[in-house]
Amino acid sequence: MAKVSFRNVWKKYGDLPAVKDLNIECPDGSFLSILGPSGCGKSSTMRMVAGLEHITAGQILFDERPINNLAPKDRDVAMVFENYALYPHKSVFENMANPLKLRGQDPDRIKERVTAAANLLEISELLQRRPQELSGGQKQRVAIGRAIVREPNLFLFDEPIAHLDAKLRAHMRGEIKHLQRTLGTTMIYVTHDQLEAMSMADQIAVMHEGELQQLGTPREVYNKPVNAWVAGFVGEPAMNFVDVGLQHKADKIHFTHPNFSIAVTEEQQRLLTAGTWPNALRMGIRPDAMSISMTRPKGDHITGKIFVTELLGGDMIVDVDLEDSRIRVKTSTEFEGLEGETCYMTVNRDKWHAFSKDTGSAVY
Ligand code: ADP
Ligand code: MG
Repeated sequence: MAKVSFRNVWKKYGDLPAVKDLNIECPDGSFLSILGPSGCGKSSTMRMVAGLEHITAGQILFDERPINNLAPKDRDVAMVFENYALYPHKSVFENMANPLKLRGQDPDRIKERVTAAANLLEISELLQRRPQELSGGQKQRVAIGRAIVREPNLFLFDEPIAHLDAKLRAHMRGEIKHLQRTLGTTMIYVTHDQLEAMSMADQIAVMHEGELQQLGTPREVYNKPVNAWVAGFVGEPAMNFVDVGLQHKADKIHFTHPNFSIAVTEEQQRLLTAGTWPNALRMGIRPDAMSISMTRPKGDHITGKIFVTELLGGDMIVDVDLEDSRIRVKTSTEFEGLEGETCYMTVNRDKWHAFSKDTGSAVY
């Protein structure tokens, strides 16, 4: 087991920075997910930890011990990639046994560890098969098994289930999380899929263009995104953003827009007056933080026109046109509004957000 620390870590390919001044602390035994879109520097980060890529600047430490100059084989990490990289001519058993064999472990011990790992992953009956006789999900289990048998200090999983089908992905999410809990081994898990990160990780490091945007628990990242970029990346359907003006009306600050004028809460008013915010902000609200109705409510509300409705499993998503934007609202399948009709949204103001229009940073 190991605590992993990134201290001012940079990766440059030539002059091009792929990872910029990364600082993360991943406690011993915890599950850290590095989340971000393709090209944001996730794999570069992993490869630096594994020793497959030189660290341009800064330090990576295991239990406070810098590992920059340690050879990959001395780092005691096990990596699982998206492409399983199994040996096609070896059986499942031989594939899983290979890392131990390379270390010259005795055959009885190898058999014991492979059998235990195979039991844990429920692939005991597959041990004599070859990779081409396995499904995608089974191959992925073998690749994970090969990582487990080494009993490493640290697991590095780089998009290990990205190309499995949706149902299997959902299943594997639970399995991998359970496995990490069972073994208690520190895990760094890279994904571009926010749902994977949200459902599995103790901490999520959200990256964008080589920079860490936010490090926090799934709840923190979801409920208190530090900027509009994180807010828009995490959550599905995505957060709605609407540009609003700020107006004082009878001591209350309102968010104003051609389709609404809604007072902020007292706490939000305090935050808005404490800072030096301009009179225009970007309001953010998740599709499930509003309720929609076809009759005009008494209190403050947003008026819009239904563009389209779509069923999404047990929910309905209503796309609503405002003067200058389109927002999405999550409601129940009983909703009866039709395209083109006027509708009314009541906002849960404890759950709306405000961001700077220039920098995207969160007011709240
Ligand atoms: P991710 O895993 O998040 O998709 P990567 O770490 O693979 O991102 O890549 C980050 C950036 O670094 C990308 O712009 C990519 O093109 C660039 N990059 C990655 N590997 C190399 C390399 N070996 N040489 C040059 N540029 C690279
Ligand atoms: Mg990658």
